[in-house]
Amino acid sequence: MCGRFAPSPTGRMHLGNAYSALLSWLSARSQGGGWLLRIEDIDSQRSRAEYADQIKDDLRWLGLEWDGECRQSDRGPLYEEALGHLTGLYHCRCTRADLLATQAPHETDGRVVYAGTCRHKGYPDGALRIAVPRADILYTDLHYGPQRVNLTTHCGDFILRRRDGAWAYQLAVVVDDALTGVSEVVRGRDLLLSAAQQIFLHRALGYTPPQYGHLPLLINAAGQRLSKRDRSLDLGALRQRYTAPRLIGLICHLAGLLPHPEALTAEEAITLFDWKKLPADDIVVAG
Ligand code: GLU
Repeated sequence: MCGRFAPSPTGRMHLGNAYSALLSWLSARSQGGGWLLRIEDIDSQRSRAEYADQIKDDLRWLGLEWDGECRQSDRGPLYEEALGHLTGLYHCRCTRADLLATQAPHETDGRVVYAGTCRHKGYPDGALRIAVPRADILYTDLHYGPQRVNLTTHCGDFILRRRDGAWAYQLAVVVDDALTGVSEVVRGRDLLLSAAQQIFLHRALGYTPPQYGHLPLLINAAGQRLSKRDRSLDLGALRQRYTAPRLIGLICHLAGLLPHPEALTAEEAITLFDWKKLPADDIVVAG
């Protein structure tokens, strides 16, 4: 088997990223599997090579060795080639304002569901979308169990390539996971519903989708997800306050793998990993 960590180099890693990286690494290593690092730098506006270098330095400091590495900005031709195998693609010329004006925001998180406005317009250019199936996508998450997602009501026909030519995350992630042999994706539960889009694309491209295991999020006392804005929890600050084994121990404790935070190396934590120990709810991290 093979797992992966796929950070976007848009800032220094923070505690939440270190937690995702560690748990994905532990899951892979506990199965004797490989673990790949993929720098998700398709957003050229926000990505910086210095951040990618810093992420690698932080992973090495944590003791999370990887077996292979790639960078999405090198992989455009593979995404292009994948497009040629898909059906139901069409160009959409809706502006952001059009999208907001024609659709009710998604009930839970303000996401906009695309209504298929341009599906039969036959435009020769614009953002490239793929028509989604009406049937529900069914899959079983390693942590959250059976999932049923209807893509028509969840997101509608979604974008694979933006109007300016930039590749969309959903296409890149699927092509990369498939072509690099990733068989297990462990990441934060903010991407739980994206898994349905990704499974649909894997199947449409003739790939076998990986197993998905989503993690409860680390949140602050106010219930907000930890973010890169909270500088006290970025690895720069954490590396001054903790040794790597103490930070690994803290994360293992937060994740339910250790009853008390105690210092141990990533290697020593491998045998502790068990999905059943992870809490169902998001994890509050005190200041
Ligand atoms: N690059 C994404 C992020 O940093 C993660 C994508 C994934 O794990 O599928 O949030």
